Amino acid sequence: MGGMIRFHNTLSGTVEDFVPLEPGLAKIYTCGPTVYDFSHIGNWRAYVFEDLLKRFLIYRGFRVAHVMNITDVDDKTIKGANARGIGLDEYTKPFIEAFYAERDRLAILPADHYPRATGFIPEMVAVIKILLEKGFAYRKDGSIYFAIDKFPAYGRLSKINLEDLRPGSRGDADEYEKESVHDFALWKAPKEGEPFWETEIGPGRPGWHIECSAMSSMYLGKTFDIHCGGVDNIFPHHENEIAQSEAANEVKFVNYWLHCHHLVVDGEKMAKSKGNFHRLADLLARGYDPFDVRYLLISTHYRKMLNFTFEALDQARTARRRIGNFLAELKAVPDRAGSGAPVDTPIEEAREGFAAGLDDDLNISEALAAIFTLIRTINPLLVEGRVSRPDAIKLAAFFAEIEGVLAIRPLTATGPTGRMSEIAAASGPGKIDAATGPTGPASFDLPEGVVQRKIEERQKARAAKDFRLADEIRKELSDAGIVLEDTKDGVRWKRVSPPKA
Ligand SMILES: [Zn+2]
Repeated sequence: MGGMIRFHNTLSGTVEDFVPLEPGLAKIYTCGPTVYDFSHIGNWRAYVFEDLLKRFLIYRGFRVAHVMNITDVDDKTIKGANARGIGLDEYTKPFIEAFYAERDRLAILPADHYPRATGFIPEMVAVIKILLEKGFAYRKDGSIYFAIDKFPAYGRLSKINLEDLRPGSRGDADEYEKESVHDFALWKAPKEGEPFWETEIGPGRPGWHIECSAMSSMYLGKTFDIHCGGVDNIFPHHENEIAQSEAANEVKFVNYWLHCHHLVVDGEKMAKSKGNFHRLADLLARGYDPFDVRYLLISTHYRKMLNFTFEALDQARTARRRIGNFLAELKAVPDRAGSGAPVDTPIEEAREGFAAGLDDDLNISEALAAIFTLIRTINPLLVEGRVSRPDAIKLAAFFAEIEGVLAIRPLTATGPTGRMSEIAAASGPGKIDAATGPTGPASFDLPEGVVQRKIEERQKARAAKDFRLADEIRKELSDAGIVLEDTKDGVRWKRVSPPKA
């Protein structure tokens, strides 16, 4: 089915054929939330786009290894925790939990792993040590900075102009504008009232960018296939990730960079001060369904600006209802209904159009157009009673198949159906079980270093009598096919065949 999958690569600025490092496997790293607040719909736009990408790759027969970081230590989280006078862990926990809960409501397939920055300090320190040894980093007043003039490829991703750069200018802030391009902090000296770690490179805490370099290579290797984020991650975050990783590892960091455009509300940048700031919970409180939101978020091509309006959200709901009504009609086709109307060709054309659209840098408009063309073709036949029961089942099976990619939960007059697979006697090859996730632990083996780190984390949690965290870690490992055995000589572990295949 279909030709090559093609993606627009921010690095080259062109649309390229997708050729993974390992045939049949796509290794994806996506920048996750900074858990200083609840995610807003602009954040969710990026995560839903990444989910469409992932589901489509699975539909096209790829296994997907997906890692998303959680930034639980940076300028913003520290500021928030200090403002409330509580520890970082206590401060970030509710935001992390809300992130997972909302992810599930939006039917976003879970990543294989969600490493938290605070769990990987030694790995970040190891990368910084290499950068110091190789002369890409230098110390200043207890902090460590990356010298961008030592890395000639700096600016290649963001196409930044380095001419105005003042040599040796540096900054400590995690986020800054292109206009103030400068040496950035890898490691920040301890400050009054800030958490810090005692490490080999001295006391302090990591800058924001180093976590993604350290954790992505830990899980996915020094070079992997796809790195995603929002356009506002391109500079400085992703530019800095490339500099850190390629300077330390001396190999290409990422082959394909995919960035999703901004979301604006009524044509304006979303801001709490303007009263146009929406979280998922705000929209649900107005009576919308998470799948209305999801439909709206995926239905604009990811490289276009998405203008969020309530009118557009209503239209998303209407589109879901159109599909839902069509499915209800199919379900109502009686056994004795006539046959003779050709459905195979329209289904095949819709399948081809759907895949061809998404093959073309996830052109969702084309993919959705193919679906609505099919509905328009079949509707009159349904009205005339010319669709047979077996053909209705074939059509429903096709919709179940694409639901694995779109996950929009078509709506009927009586509410969400959510039972398309019941209508379909057979399900298509691309069927994806959103409840359990398609990739599961079989995507890739958890690297030994990560296993060791998790075991240490669990031991620490147990020593601190945080049994809930200890259990969570055991569960995470067991989901990845790692079984722990507590012995009197310590913890032993072994790989078993993954429980969910
Ligand atoms: Zn990142």
